[in-house]
Amino acid sequence: MSSITRARVADGLRELLLRHTAERLDEVLSASAKADPTYLDFLDELVAEELLAKRGRRTTMQLKIAHFPSVKTLAEFDFKAQPSVDERLIYELSTGQFVETAENVLLFGPPGVGKTHLAIGLGRAVVEAGYTAHFTTTTALLATLAQAESDGPKALADRMMFYRRPDVMIVDELGYLPFEKRTAHLFFQLVAKRYERGSMIITTNQSVGRWGEVFGDDVLAAAILDRLLHHSHTLTVSGDSYRMKHRRKTTVSNGRARP
Ligand code: ADP
Ligand code: MG
Repeated sequence: MSSITRARVADGLRELLLRHTAERLDEVLSASAKADPTYLDFLDELVAEELLAKRGRRTTMQLKIAHFPSVKTLAEFDFKAQPSVDERLIYELSTGQFVETAENVLLFGPPGVGKTHLAIGLGRAVVEAGYTAHFTTTTALLATLAQAESDGPKALADRMMFYRRPDVMIVDELGYLPFEKRTAHLFFQLVAKRYERGSMIITTNQSVGRWGEVFGDDVLAAAILDRLLHHSHTLTVSGDSYRMKHRRKTTVSNGRARP
C-alpha cells in the first residue's frame, strides 16, 4: 500500500471516529499480512476490537460521572464472611436486568456490614453492563436539593432533572440523620419522579418500621416506602461489622490483642 493510501485510510478512520483502529493501523496491517484472514474475518476482528475499545472508553467515562466515593467491586466482596447476603441475587442484579424494569434495591442493616460496598459494587457492575449511575450520600443529596430549592423553582426543577436522568440513582446512608420537613418533601418528590422510570439503590440502617421517625411524618414515609418497595429487591444485611471483625483478626495475628 502506498504511503498516500495509508495516510488517507488513517485520516478516514479518524474522521469516522474509529480511533482505536486508526492508532493501530500498522499493527493491524502487518498482523493481517501474516495471518491472511478472509475479508470477512478481517472486518469482523476490526469491528470487534473497535467496539471493545469504545465500550472501555464509555465505561471509564461513566464510572467517573457516577461519582463513586471509592473503588469497591463485587469480586472483592467476601460473601462467605457475610452469609446473610444472597450471593446469587447480587450477581443476578449485577447484570442490570433490574434497571430495565426500573426496580429498586434496598439494603438494610447496621453499620459496617457491607451495605455501601455492595451498593458501589452493584453500581459499578451496572455501569459496566452499559447503564448510567449516580452515587450520592443522603446528606449531600438533601443539601443539594435544599440549596436548589432556595435558588428558585427553575434551579430545583433542573436539579430534579439531573437526579432523574441516570438509569440508577444510588442513595447511601438514609436514616443516619432525621430529615427536616422541607427536605423530607424534596426526597419524596425525587422518589416520585423516578418511580417506575428509573432504579434506585438505597442503603439504610433503619428498618422500615422506623422510617416514620426518619422522615418525621408517617404519611410521607408511607408514601415514599410505597413507591420504593413496589418494584423492589430488599436485602437485609446482618451480622457484626466487617471492619471490627477484620481489625480483631489483624490484631490477634499480630499478637497484640488484649484479653
Ligand atoms: P456499611 O455501609 O454497611 O456501613 P461498608 O460497606 O462501608 O459498611 O463496609 C465497611 C468496610 O468493610 C468497607 O471497607 C468494606 O469494603 C468492608 N467490607 C464489609 N463487608 C465486607 C465483605 N463481606 N467483604 C469484603 N469487605 C467488606
Ligand atoms: Mg455505609
